[in-house]
Amino acid sequence: MEFLVSELEREPIDFDLELAPGAVDFSDEAEQVGPLAAAGRAEVLHEHRGPRDIVADIRLRGRFAGKFEVPCARCVEPVEIPLAAEFDLIYRPVDADSEAPERSITAPETEIGYYLNDSLLLEDVLREQVLLSLPVRTLCKPDCKGLCPRCGENRNTEACTCDEGQTDPRWEALAGLRSRIKS
Ligand SMILES: [Zn+2]
Ligand SMILES: [Zn+2]
Repeated sequence: MEFLVSELEREPIDFDLELAPGAVDFSDEAEQVGPLAAAGRAEVLHEHRGPRDIVADIRLRGRFAGKFEVPCARCVEPVEIPLAAEFDLIYRPVDADSEAPERSITAPETEIGYYLNDSLLLEDVLREQVLLSLPVRTLCKPDCKGLCPRCGENRNTEACTCDEGQTDPRWEALAGLRSRIKS
């Protein structure tokens, strides 16, 4: 969904939609499972910087909710995580701050982004918001045993016949390194 400043200048646009997987490109960071719901309002806010210097900002407020799959940090099996968040964002024309950045107003409560060519794509905003709300590290379960550093077997499902000497996951990297030096 594209917001055009010229249209927003006439009246705010309310949106309430569901995006199918693939509509937003999350690259390899997360896979969307099922529809991604997004609802909110886009409107223009005019920044009066001077009598002839009026900047048309787009304010985008709303929320999204959807399910995503990310790889477990230890065993790389996909883990389904529900994500939902609210956002309240300001987008400025990309050239508005280039000449006099020191004049730009600061709005600590809102994040500032930039839009190009008088248009803002909801899909781009959602991609950013979803990626920002992803947990830094996801585990399939708190005690995930991870992959065997020697044979690569998923230790949650397969008992491999490698040396069981070190099972503390903190030693995995060291054990893997040692086996590489030996071979
Ligand atoms: Zn795991
Ligand atoms: Zn093994």
